[in-house]
Amino acid sequence: MAIVASPSRDVPTDLHNPHSLTWQRVMKLAVRDPRRLCRLLDLPTSVADAAVRACQGFPLFVPHGFVARMQPRNLADPLLRQVLPLAEEQIPTDDHQLDPVEDGLATLQPGLLQKYRARVLLVTTGACAVHCRYCFRRHYPYSNLPKSLAAWQTALDRIRADKSLSEVILSGGDPLTVGDEQLANLVQQLSNIPHLRRLRVHTRLPVMIPERITQELLSWITHTRLTAVVVIHANHGAELDETVAYAVAKLVEAGVTVLNQAVLLRGVNDDLETQLTLCERLVDLRVLPYYLHQFDRVAGAAHFEVPVKRGLQIITGLRSRLPGYAIPRYVQEAPAQPNKIVLA
Ligand SMILES: *Cc1c(COP(=O)(O)O)cnc(C)c1O
Ligand code: SF4
Repeated sequence: MAIVASPSRDVPTDLHNPHSLTWQRVMKLAVRDPRRLCRLLDLPTSVADAAVRACQGFPLFVPHGFVARMQPRNLADPLLRQVLPLAEEQIPTDDHQLDPVEDGLATLQPGLLQKYRARVLLVTTGACAVHCRYCFRRHYPYSNLPKSLAAWQTALDRIRADKSLSEVILSGGDPLTVGDEQLANLVQQLSNIPHLRRLRVHTRLPVMIPERITQELLSWITHTRLTAVVVIHANHGAELDETVAYAVAKLVEAGVTVLNQAVLLRGVNDDLETQLTLCERLVDLRVLPYYLHQFDRVAGAAHFEVPVKRGLQIITGLRSRLPGYAIPRYVQEAPAQPNKIVLA
């Protein structure tokens, strides 16, 4: 927590007492200016200048707590690399697309996607607690989303009418950027649909803003007849500090199944030792590694791509070192398939 411990004019004063902050306040105070991020981490102004140019169209956004887990003066820091806009983003490439996973084809109506049998995905919001430079939805047409909960009614009607569905996945954006009152209301309505069995939440909030795991959240996620599964997105063991451990423990102790998915990213986690440390740390926190995703080829993020061959070597390495339950499935998203492609 080096940054929080060393006061500077770049850190809002109430951040010096993290326990006094609500998650909404942490969101508001997040770093949005590349120059400020570079000052906090003692990085050269040339880095900030390049980032200012590169972040147009997809701004920088990173909460202070996550910045505090980065090493100052280290441009290769694996957490920094996930959020720092680089000049490489502007290099045009031939085969990287705006919608690499073909969300467009799977859209039943704005904000409601179905690609796989029995599971439907609700894009609850376009807002996130961090902007990941590798995000495959960085070009998603979020402005088409329904603007209020009342507008979700048509999506709910559709889910109610389709008895083949057993699971609703809250996705985004990040669904946990929506307030607890709205989410409680949504989950209540989903619980009333008899054929649904599970509620899954895909979120980076427990990692980015651990304060988000509030009593109110624990209340709506446990007071539903639906089995709750939370998939957190951690790509590197250094993301999982004690504040995250505490937030995750609250979910686990409330009876929620907690899984992790990571994306295989060049310069972030594309080596065996990093993946090994991540998997062991997750299991220590009682989180099972679920998926390791092959990078989706989104335009502007080609520099993150790792060859599948390398990913396969990493998985083979993990198998020789870890129990089976600690090894994620290495998967790739492909259009028009009944499931994600399991590479290993
Ligand atoms: C990945 C994904 C899912 C979930 O797939 P699982 O294999 O069940 O984790 C569901 N819907 C869409 C559109 C997805 O991309
Ligand atoms: S939190 Fe998820 S949806 Fe949001 S920017 Fe990161 S990868 Fe994309």
